[in-house]
Amino acid sequence: MNPPEFELLQNNFVKCQNCKHLTKEGLCSAIDRVRPMVNALRHCAEFLALGYSKPLVDERPLDSEELNDAYSRVAKPFFYHLRDCKVCDLDKESFCAVGKELHLDRESVLMCFENAAEKNKAFIAYLKKF
Ligand SMILES: [Zn+2]
Repeated sequence: MNPPEFELLQNNFVKCQNCKHLTKEGLCSAIDRVRPMVNALRHCAEFLALGYSKPLVDERPLDSEELNDAYSRVAKPFFYHLRDCKVCDLDKESFCAVGKELHLDRESVLMCFENAAEKNKAFIAYLKKF
């Protein structure tokens, strides 16, 4: 196993395609209010491994509204945590246990954006105002 792959597993990055919560309509029955990107790696605490094979669910890319909705659901709790936590530092990528979970949740959605780096910069700039 090469190092980046190992790191992904260490951080519990998983695909919805391999989870019991994914319905055949491509919805998550456990947490998501929006359709998850079934083949994207994400950090998920609700993941339940399938343990059997089932037909793959077609991936329909999220439209920009769905993607922004997914992003705001993970960015907001992370933002409030960073603002109030004395330990977490996004610039240094140093986080407490809670902050790390929130950081990984946000990263997994951020990876879906073409302008991820730009979006991250905007987030940091906004955070510094508080
Ligand atoms: Zn923290």
